[in-house]
Order: sequence, then structure tokens, then C-alpha cells
Amino acid sequence: MYHLKAIIIGAGIGGLTTGIALKQAGYEIEIYDKVREFRPAGAGISLWSNGIKVLNQLGLGEEIAQMGGRMNQMEYRSHQDKLLNSIDLHPLINEVGQRPYPVARTDLQALLLQAVGEENVTLNCKCVKVSEEKDGITATFEDGRTTRGDLLISADGIHSIIRPVVTGESSEPRYAGYVNWNGLVEANRQEIDPECWVIYVGEGKRASMMPIGKDRFYFFFGCPMEKGTEVAPENRQQELAEIFQEWPSPVQRLIETLNPLETNRLEIHDLNPLNTLVKGRIALLGDAGHATTPTLGQGGCQAMEDAAVLCRYLVTTNVSVEDALQRYELARKPRTSELVLKARKRTDTIYGKDMSVTQEWYKSLSQESESDVINALAKVILAGPFN
Ligand code: FAD
Repeated sequence: MYHLKAIIIGAGIGGLTTGIALKQAGYEIEIYDKVREFRPAGAGISLWSNGIKVLNQLGLGEEIAQMGGRMNQMEYRSHQDKLLNSIDLHPLINEVGQRPYPVARTDLQALLLQAVGEENVTLNCKCVKVSEEKDGITATFEDGRTTRGDLLISADGIHSIIRPVVTGESSEPRYAGYVNWNGLVEANRQEIDPECWVIYVGEGKRASMMPIGKDRFYFFFGCPMEKGTEVAPENRQQELAEIFQEWPSPVQRLIETLNPLETNRLEIHDLNPLNTLVKGRIALLGDAGHATTPTLGQGGCQAMEDAAVLCRYLVTTNVSVEDALQRYELARKPRTSELVLKARKRTDTIYGKDMSVTQEWYKSLSQESESDVINALAKVILAGPFN
């Protein structure tokens, strides 16, 4: 279908990637976000090869390769510093045909914004209502403004206000039972190989560093906790020192060198798989449709896959907008539901929901062969739209 106008609510990874894809396909796009200024939530993100393939298709491959970290190795270590397994990632790259790139979120956001054109993004514009008419769809904003288009993409994240309009029910995010801390540190101040993604596990917790570009590590910690805990930024270093006391020296070094004021602390949530992702001319995309725990590193990659698939059906079919969206749902619902549930299961295992299962997992890590790990990662990646 040609010359359509798409209204995109949300300028996160999902909204921006969709905007780029539709703009390149010749669509008129308008992107709206409620924030007053761009500031990505979170410090880093691992873009696995399925997400990078979408960026390649959009002509951003060279830029992402330049900004991404060289992650050549992946290591699991116990909280007593015993090497559990060490995986060379080159066979994975060969198997799936693309290197993964962990990146700083600010760098990724700047790249996507430039590609979509800042003039197409309106900030400080909170969508409060969407209403569908026979031949179009209207979004209304908090300040009374309205805009009308042929379709509306709800890329407004896990707390989407458009989701209930699509699904006909309220679907509240579910607390996954653990807190995540994340930030960036200089790689040359750390005690680990700058091309290795290292993950320390033990006591139902984990601590990790992942190489991103410009000699930095993206770090994250995770620990099971009751819902509702809050710790002021200035106390976060102390909090981590207590939770991870007696963990190995690279973890202690990480805690000593991180900047607590720039360390994010968040309770992780996901969404139960939804009954539908589309209604008429509205499509849920990214976290609005399938927010997942980050233990597979796939939430942002799935938003990118959504963007590519939605655009593909819009430009290659010619019955109606509604028909293209139905095809999008058919392609995306099984894929995203499966990953949400898979990540949830992995989260429970990692974070000690049942410590006997977690202990078994620690044991299995040292028994896993390199090819088992590569095959598991490749399976997730190759089930995407570009295999
Ligand atoms: P969001 O990024 O949430 O964007 C939604 C946008 O909509 C926001 O800008 C918001 O301001 C705007 N908005 C909301 N409501 C309105 C409204 N009413 N009107 C206008 N605008 C509105 N994924 C990976 O692929 N790899 C990883 O390694 C990875 N690690 C992660 C680590 C953590 C700790 C977390 C929490 C997530 C991680 N993810 C990862 C998941 C990934 O961050 C998300 O899946 C992705 O950011 C979702 O993008 P989105 O565009 O759908 O939503």
C-alpha cells in the first residue's frame, strides 16, 4: 500500500526503528513522545544478530558496527571465581551470519534519531486517547492537539495506555521478583578481558560486564528482592558492596569504580502474552505488546523485528491496512509470546525462585559444551524474520 500516513506513539527503540522503516518505504510518519527531552532508560543494551540484521536492512549496518563492542568471548564464573564455561562466539557469528553488538543506549538512540529525522519526532506530547473511524484513526494528546492518519503504532512501552484499547482488557505488568542495577564503566579500569562478556553467578544473584564501544563496559547486577524497595542513587554503591560482599576481585573492582549517581536501579517486570497485538488500524509494537524480562537480551531486538515485519506486510500487501496488521500479528504473536515465556523461565532459574533448580543450573553450566550454548543462541536468532 502506498502513500499512507502512520502515527507512531513512543520514540523508544521500537517507535524509532518503525519510523525509519516506514519512512524508507515512502510513508508519511509522525512520531510522538511524552518526554520533554531524549534520555534513554538504561545504560547499555546487547543487540543480538537478529536485531542487527534489521538495522543492516535499514542501511545502518556500518554505523552500528562502528559503535558496537567487540564481544568475542562469553564466560560464566561462579561467585567463588571458578570458571564454569568459556564460549568462543565466532562459531555463533558464522552460524547466524552476523556479529552481535552491545552498545551504549545513548549512542543507539542518537543513531536511530538521526536516521528517522528529528523533525519527524514531536516531544512533550502525551497521547491520551485513540479513536478509530471508518477510514482513519485519530490520536488525541494531553494538550488537546489531535492528529489523524491511516494507521497508528502503539510503541509506548510496557505501561502502554493504548494496549487496553487493542486487547479489550487491562494487562498489568508482572513483577519478575528481582532488582537490576546497570551502568557504564571504563574498560581499562577493570580486571577482565575487554573482549569478553563475563557473568558471575551464585546465591541466586549475578554480576556481569559486557564490552560496548569506546573502551567501556556495560555492567549489570541482579538480585532477588521483595517489590517496593528503593535506594537513593548516592547509596547504591554501598548497597551493591553489601549484596556482593566476598564475591571475586573483578566484581569488587567493578563496584569500587562505578559511579553510583549514574547507576540505574529498577524492579524488572514483564507482561503475560496478550490475546492479540492488533485491532483495526492499531498495532502494538515492542514492549507495549510483549515486554519481557531481559535475561535473553531480546526485548529491544524483538521491537526491531516487529518494525521490519510490520513494514514488510504494509508494503507487500494491498488489501487493506487492517489486513496487513492481521498478517503482522500472525507472524509476531507466536514468536514474541514464546520468547517472553522462555525469558521468564530463565529469570526464575537465574534468580533462585526455587534454589534447587538454580543449583542444578550452576552445575549444568560447567557441563555444557560450547556447541550446546552456540546452538541455543543461534536457535533464538535464526527464528527471526532474517535467518
Ligand atoms: P520503550 O523504550 O519503553 O519506549 C516507549 C516510549 O513511549 C518512551 O519513550 C515513552 O516516553 C513513550 N510513551 C509512553 N507513553 C506515552 C504516551 N502516552 N504518549 C507518548 N509517548 C509515550 N533488550 C535487548 O534487546 N537487549 C538487551 O540487552 C536488553 N537489556 C535490557 C536490560 C534491562 C535492565 C531492561 C529493563 C530491558 C532490556 N532490554 C533489552 C529490553 C529493551 O530495553 C526493551 O525491550 C526496549 O527498550 C523496548 O523499546 P520500546 O520502544 O518498545 O519501548
